[in-house]
Amino acid sequence: MPFTLAPLPYSHDALEPHIDTLTMQIHHGKHHQAYVDNLNKAIAGSDHENKSLETLIASAGTISPAVRNNGGGHWNHTFFWESLGTNAGGNPTGELADAISSAFGSFDAFKEKFNNAGLTRFGSGWAWLILKDGKLDITSTPNQDNPLMDVAEVKGTPLLGVDVWEHAYYLKYQNRRAEYLAAFWNVVDWKKIGERFKH
Ligand code: MN
Repeated sequence: MPFTLAPLPYSHDALEPHIDTLTMQIHHGKHHQAYVDNLNKAIAGSDHENKSLETLIASAGTISPAVRNNGGGHWNHTFFWESLGTNAGGNPTGELADAISSAFGSFDAFKEKFNNAGLTRFGSGWAWLILKDGKLDITSTPNQDNPLMDVAEVKGTPLLGVDVWEHAYYLKYQNRRAEYLAAFWNVVDWKKIGERFKH
């Protein structure tokens, strides 16, 4: 099996009270695991078995819906877990902070625009902060698509993403996606996002 589920980079209760333990257990152990398993099934015995996840994602629109959905699911969730952490939240610093202020006016204005992208994504999907042609931008994608995919309306390099599928917040927040998005900022690891920005 070419793809495997990595352990979370922190414990299941590390993001409490903002993202609850049971949600993390099910989200990582069941949902993310299923994307990995179904991606492996989708490529088993095909030419795609030896390709990297990034290569599969880049041509997700032409391979198959199963690779698009499950390859995207695997990439997006790995990226999401690595974007969060304990002792996180607060404000970005350094060059990223300057770039956010320059692109959006202020950090608060950026958060409002990002939250709005998450809130207005109908049904299931993701909101993203991306680097596009050297500039920061905000976009959202349906289902498990992401801005690296050939099928993305707005393409770019993701720096931060938030999962707005109901499975990401329903146990704690039920239908209150806005409350989940407000809590999300308390667990964003800006050091990590800043490293992505520099690369
Ligand atoms: Mn998810």
